[in-house]
Amino acid sequence: MALRNIREIGDEILTKKCREVKEMTPRLRELIADMLDTMYDAEGVGLAAPQVGVLRQIVVIDVGEGPIILINPKIVEQDGEQEGNEGCLSVPGKAGVVVRPNHVVVEGLDENMQPVRIEGEELLARALCHELDHLQGVMYTAKVKGDLFDTAVEEEEETEEDQ
Ligand code: ZN
Repeated sequence: MALRNIREIGDEILTKKCREVKEMTPRLRELIADMLDTMYDAEGVGLAAPQVGVLRQIVVIDVGEGPIILINPKIVEQDGEQEGNEGCLSVPGKAGVVVRPNHVVVEGLDENMQPVRIEGEELLARALCHELDHLQGVMYTAKVKGDLFDTAVEEEEETEEDQ
């Protein structure tokens, strides 16, 4: 198990666009394993490569249904709308209200560079949108309605979903 340092808001790397992955390498496999370890250790539901300082189009997500690994992911369908609290491992202790599609379909590659299609509703749809935004250098804080709020109280009850 190897944990990577999670970059926090204000770090320039979080505002940069990520490059596509052309081929899987031992180094990228190690990155993906470390991203999963780091996400679970931080009790997040998602993590994007730039959050650990790597500008590659890789995200990992687990909303409680097992790990999803997505390489070069793109949203190909979206519909509906959900409004809810969102947090981010790169913005510790904060959350804000973000409107997202309620249903998305994402196409990309898995860790073996095989095509995958992931369909998500509610929290998974939110997590997919949030992580894919990271690959474009977009933080959820740019999309928050109103102000960010502190999650200190909720954190003790472990009700926050940081991504
Ligand atoms: Zn995030």
